[in-house]
Amino acid sequence: MVTAFLVALLPATQAQALPAWPSISQGASGVDTKAAQYLLRHHGYGIAADGQFGTATRSAVISFQTAHGLTADGTIGAQTWPRLVVSVSQGSTGEAVKAAQTQLNAYGAGLSVDGQFGPATNTAVRSYQSSHGLTVDGLVGPQTWQSLLGTNGADGGGGTPSGYSLPLARSAVPRSDYAAPHYGTTPAIDLIVSYIPAYAIKSGVVDHYSSTSCGIGIRLLQPDGSRFVYCHLSARSVADGVQVAAGTRIATTGDTGNSGAPHLHVEIRTSDGVAHCPQSYLLAIYDGLTPPSFGSLPTSGCTTA
Ligand SMILES: [Zn+2]
Repeated sequence: MVTAFLVALLPATQAQALPAWPSISQGASGVDTKAAQYLLRHHGYGIAADGQFGTATRSAVISFQTAHGLTADGTIGAQTWPRLVVSVSQGSTGEAVKAAQTQLNAYGAGLSVDGQFGPATNTAVRSYQSSHGLTVDGLVGPQTWQSLLGTNGADGGGGTPSGYSLPLARSAVPRSDYAAPHYGTTPAIDLIVSYIPAYAIKSGVVDHYSSTSCGIGIRLLQPDGSRFVYCHLSARSVADGVQVAAGTRIATTGDTGNSGAPHLHVEIRTSDGVAHCPQSYLLAIYDGLTPPSFGSLPTSGCTTA
């Protein structure tokens, strides 16, 4: 819950633009790097698609950039991605299809990365497009590529440690908001935003949860019974019981339940139900560090009351 005076500070718009293309370079690792490697293989570069952006990948990128009249800096960013991505749809085969399947799996599609764009891949693309406000046509073209690559990790694939995501786009709130005490007596955090996408902080199973105080909520269940709790949502984006990857959009923030103004309330609870202070956990993710275990987080000292 937040105090009402904050209402005046809230922006009125709900813009839903495509996320920025991620920027990856030597030293990067993860799903965006792996997709880039498959796409480079499609363009004839015989590098391994191992998800590790090493010297061989950098050399291939520089060669690709040179061949396409781009600045040959070895970084795959807003300039290089649009030339690197390849439109694929049902019936397509090959390395570019593997890139698309790799990206879709980061959102829980569960596809085998076989380079065959069949009915299962088609269904996964359409489902992704439907849940991300894109034209639902089954075509992985420039817009869907940009959404897939840019949405992953909520912040364009850069900055956060592998396997984790901020709960909101990095640009949504300043770092200091992740350090602020909770407005209340429960260890938690309130992130003051209007109606914007909320993302899975870690992989987990979406559990639809509602209460008078939480309003429309989601519990993101971990295998050991611990969970993240998201409250005051205006809408959920994922069905109950679905396993999602870190960075998957799971909801739109809102003002439901005991809430004085639109904001996202986040809790971390261990399997015994005890609420722990999420501040240091989220700050670690913000800073690109692996966060501490739930159990090591304090259970007091992070509230205003
Ligand atoms: Zn709160």
